[in-house]
Formats: sequence, C-alpha cells, structure tokens
Amino acid sequence: MQNQQNQLTRRVLFRFIQEAGLTSCHRCGLALTQSDFSLDHILPWRNSENAEELFWDIDNIAFSHRGCNSAESRTAVSRRKQTHCKRGHPFDVQNTKLVSGGRNCKTCLIMYQTDEWKNRNATQQV
Ligand SMILES: [Zn+2]
Ligand SMILES: [Zn+2]
Repeated sequence: MQNQQNQLTRRVLFRFIQEAGLTSCHRCGLALTQSDFSLDHILPWRNSENAEELFWDIDNIAFSHRGCNSAESRTAVSRRKQTHCKRGHPFDVQNTKLVSGGRNCKTCLIMYQTDEWKNRNATQQV
C-alpha cells in the first residue's frame, strides 16, 4: 500500500506541477513526465553550512528529471566542462572518446592497456 500511496502522491504532485507550468527540467530544460520527474534543490544542500535550512526551504525546490538530478550525471556534467583529463591530456577531437555520460581520454585508455599498467594493477592486488 505504501508504494501505491507514493504513486498517488507523485500523480497529484505532477498535476500541480503542470498547473503551475513548471514541467520543464530545472537542469536540462526538457519536458518532465509523471514517471521521471524528481524534486531537486536549486542550491545544493549537501556539504552546505545551513544544509538543513536549504533542504527544507520550499523556495529552494525545483523539478528535474531523475537522471539529471542524480549525483552521477552531475559529475558527468562537470566532467564535460573539463578541457583536460585528470592526467593532463587534452580533450580534443583526436584524443576524446565519447561514452555514455561523459568522455574518455584515448591516451589514458591506451595507457591502461599497456603491459606496464596491467602489471602495476596486478601487483597492487596482491
Ligand atoms: Zn533534465
Ligand atoms: Zn589522459
């Protein structure tokens, strides 16, 4: 019954979101649907000095896709802004491999495949 209660809450909430004209995602701007909207905080409350205040502040609430709201996709977004990989190789056309949710550095990928790297990992596991 708990689950149905949640579903009903979402359904009612989404109805209000539609009526308030807030059906575009706070993060990507695309339309939200009843099944994938989520409550999002405009100012991130985690690690903030007044975390509790921000968390409960209704004015700090926006709506976004669950995917856009996840920590994983936020990391991907910040990664997309980087111009170099963590080892300092440039993310240019030749050196960038696009993967779901981000980019990979081809130089690093090649490095991971070298014997030296494999041996290093093997010794670390022992
Ligand atoms: Zn979105
Ligand atoms: Zn690299």
